[in-house]
Amino acid sequence: MAPTVLSVRDDTLALLERLGVPAQAFAEGGLAARSPVDGGVVAELRQTSRDEAEAAIAGAAQAFLAWRRVPGPRRGELVRLLGEELRAHKDELGRLVTLEAGKILSEGLGEVQEMIDICDFAVGLSRQLHGLTIATERPDHRMMEVWHPLGVCGVITAFNFPVAVWSWNAALALVCGDPVIWKPSEKTPLTALAVHALAMKAVKRFGADAPEGLLGLLIGGRDLGERLVEDERVALVSATGSTAMGRQVAPKLAARFARAILELGGNNAAIVTPSADLDLALRAIAFAAMGTAGQRCTTLRRLFVHDSVYDALVPRLKAAYASVRIGDPRDPATLIGPLIDTAAADGMARALDEARAIGGTVHGGERLRDIRGEAAAYVRPALVEMPEQAGPMRRETFAPILYVTRYAELEEAIHAQNAVAAGLSSSIFTRDLAEAETFLSAAGSDCGIANVNIGPSGAEIGGAFGGEKETGGGREAGSDSWKAYMRRATNTINYGKTLPLAQGVTFEV
Ligand code: NAD
Repeated sequence: MAPTVLSVRDDTLALLERLGVPAQAFAEGGLAARSPVDGGVVAELRQTSRDEAEAAIAGAAQAFLAWRRVPGPRRGELVRLLGEELRAHKDELGRLVTLEAGKILSEGLGEVQEMIDICDFAVGLSRQLHGLTIATERPDHRMMEVWHPLGVCGVITAFNFPVAVWSWNAALALVCGDPVIWKPSEKTPLTALAVHALAMKAVKRFGADAPEGLLGLLIGGRDLGERLVEDERVALVSATGSTAMGRQVAPKLAARFARAILELGGNNAAIVTPSADLDLALRAIAFAAMGTAGQRCTTLRRLFVHDSVYDALVPRLKAAYASVRIGDPRDPATLIGPLIDTAAADGMARALDEARAIGGTVHGGERLRDIRGEAAAYVRPALVEMPEQAGPMRRETFAPILYVTRYAELEEAIHAQNAVAAGLSSSIFTRDLAEAETFLSAAGSDCGIANVNIGPSGAEIGGAFGGEKETGGGREAGSDSWKAYMRRATNTINYGKTLPLAQGVTFEV
C-alpha cells in the first residue's frame, strides 16, 4: 500500500541520521517512539533521568546569568543561525514530522516553514524590544519603561504540532534573553531530538557567547513536565496541550506566582450565512474540518448553517467527506493521514455513538483497517447532522468530526458558537458587511481568533496566537506576544535638586 520504497522504520532512521540525532539518544528498552503511519515502533529512546532534568534546570539557571547580558541583536544572531539550519534541513525535518505525527507531507513541510518564519520574525524583534518614555507629573524627572530578560523558560508541547510550537516559544524566548528547556510530547520525541540537534549546531556556530545550558531537552513522560512546572528556578512555563493538562498545570504555577502561557484545547466553530460564497465556504470548511485529520487545536468542529443555504451546502459537504483521499501521509495524493494512535480512534468512535444516541445522523466516521492494519488508526472523517448543539458537540474530541446544525437568526448562531467552554478560533462566511462586523465586534465571537471568509484552522505567525476561557488565555508567536518572555521595569529618574513627591504629597523632615 505504501507508495514509498523504504519501510516506515528505515525511512525514519535514515532521516534521524541525516538530521544529526546522536547515537546516544537511542537505548534498547527505553521510550518507544511510534509512527502513526503504520502504528509500529520505529526507535527506542533514552529517557531523561531525574538527575539529568535537575542538571538541565540548574544549567539553564546558570546560563541565564550570562545570556541576559548578551545584547538583544547579538542574541538575534543565534536565532538567525537556527533559521539557517532549518532552511537547510526543511525537507528532512518536514518528512520526519510526517512520519512521526502522521501529517501529510505538505503540512509537515509547512510546519517547518512556520519555524523558519518565526525565526525571521524574532531576528527582527531582537532589535525592537523597546519600552516607552512616559510623561511624568514631576519637574526635572524622566519616567520610562524598559524590558529585561525574565529567566528560564520551560516549554511543554503537544504531539500535533511537534516542532512549530517549540519554535514559536524558543525563538522569542532566546532573543528576549531567556534559556529554554523543552519537554516535548512523549508521542513525538524524534522530531524534538532532531530539532534539538539542529539548534545545537546553530549554538556551536554562534560561538562562546552562548552559555552552556542555554537549550535543554527532556525526553520522557508528563513527570518531566511536572518537574518544570514545580521548579521555582523556571520563571515561565509555556504549556500547550489539552485543557485537562492545563487544569493541572495552572494552579501549580499560580501557587508559586510563576508566569504561565497556556495554549489549550479548542472547540472551534464557523457560521455560514445566507449571503456566503458557498464554493469558497465549502473548500474552507473541508480543509478546516478534515485537514490534519482533525488534529489541530484550531480544527473546525462545529458548523452553524443558515436554514436558507443548508440544503445547498450540506449535501456537497457530504460528498466531499465521502470522496476525500485517505492514506499513507507520504503519498502526495493523500489528503488525510492517520490519527496519532488507536486510542484517538476509540475516542472518536465513542463520541459518534454519543451523538447517535441523542439524535445525530452520522455520515462517515468508520475505521479504515485495510490501509495499514490494526495498529494504525486511519478513519474516514465524520460529518454529523445534529438536531441541536448538545452532547459531544459541546466538547473537543481530537479527531475529524464536524457537527452541523441549522440556525435562523445570526444572533442565535453567535450565541451558540460562544456557548462552549473553549474559546480558541472562529469564522463567519458572509458577504454582508453588517454580519461580518457584528461577528467581529465586542458582542460577536468571544474567541482569541475570529476570521471572515476563511476557516478557523491555522494561523500566520505575525499575529498573536491563542484563545480565551478554557483555551487558557495565553498568546504566543507574533504581535506583542514577546512581552510574556520579559519582565517590565518602570524607572523614574530625578535629575533636579529638589524632591517633589507624586500626587502633591508633602513630607518635610
Ligand atoms: P496532552 O495534554 O495530552 O499533552 C501535552 C503535553 O503536556 C505533553 O508533553 C504531556 O507530556 C504534557 N503533560 C500532560 N500532563 C501534564 C502535567 N500534569 N504536567 C506537566 N505536563 C503535562 O495533549 P496532546 O494530546 O499531546 O495534544 C492535543 C491537545 O493539545 C488538544 O487538546 C489540542 O487542542 C491541544 N493543543 C492546543 C494548542 C493551542 O495552541 N491552543 C496547540 C496544539 C494542541
